[in-house]
Amino acid sequence: MYIKKDVRLRSLCACMVPALIICCDFFNSIKKEIIITSGNEGIHKKGSKHYDGEAFDIRTYHLSKSEISQFQSYFRKRCDSCFDLVIEKDHAHIEYDDSEIFEEFP
Ligand SMILES: [Zn+2]
Repeated sequence: MYIKKDVRLRSLCACMVPALIICCDFFNSIKKEIIITSGNEGIHKKGSKHYDGEAFDIRTYHLSKSEISQFQSYFRKRCDSCFDLVIEKDHAHIEYDDSEIFEEFP
């Protein structure tokens, strides 16, 4: 695993650890390096979960289209209920999202 220079993970919430492990498992399975490109530093959208330590970004531009879609299904199969995975132009954004869990248990 590489963590890009200047990435801040100090306030990354412990709830993000399972998502990070699942991402690592996938990248290991395709024998490609996982590179974290953002934690809670930098400028993000207003209200972004990056500011609350509930999101991180990983590089995807070294993956093929097919590897990206394998990554999406691998991730969703394992933790779709409490995390959102959004594929952006050159990275994947992963954030904590327990709204579905609360809908099931009002
Ligand atoms: Zn992001």
